[in-house]
Amino acid sequence: MWRASKRLMTGARKDPSVAAESGQRLILADEDGLLSIYYEGGRLPSPSGGFLMVLGVQPEAEGAGSVFLECTSSSLRYRMSVPKATRAERKKVRDLIDEGRDPECPRHQGQLLVRIRHDLACSRCGVRYAKAK
Ligand SMILES: [Zn+2]
Repeated sequence: MWRASKRLMTGARKDPSVAAESGQRLILADEDGLLSIYYEGGRLPSPSGGFLMVLGVQPEAEGAGSVFLECTSSSLRYRMSVPKATRAERKKVRDLIDEGRDPECPRHQGQLLVRIRHDLACSRCGVRYAKAK
């Protein structure tokens, strides 16, 4: 039963390059490829043509992030998951802080981290890289 109703929800909008659904946001199949473009600040190609425009960034549980995107041609909305910080990335940020420098996002060059509650996070990927002092 649930299977049938889910199919109805996806309906004619089904796109072969879209892997799965999360709520009302579609998940992108090639997240890794898109992420590397995103880290470099490039324009993100949309699976349904056109480009993906960033609607917002949200921190997730356990230090990961989410980027919400909308396709400029189809207006379909997507959620791209950003993996949490690696040990090496966290160390890089801690080293900057220890040296008395402003902590930058290890993935977004020149992007300073901002304080979100008790953590330092990047406003472009939503990932938390260090504890705020
Ligand atoms: Zn970032």
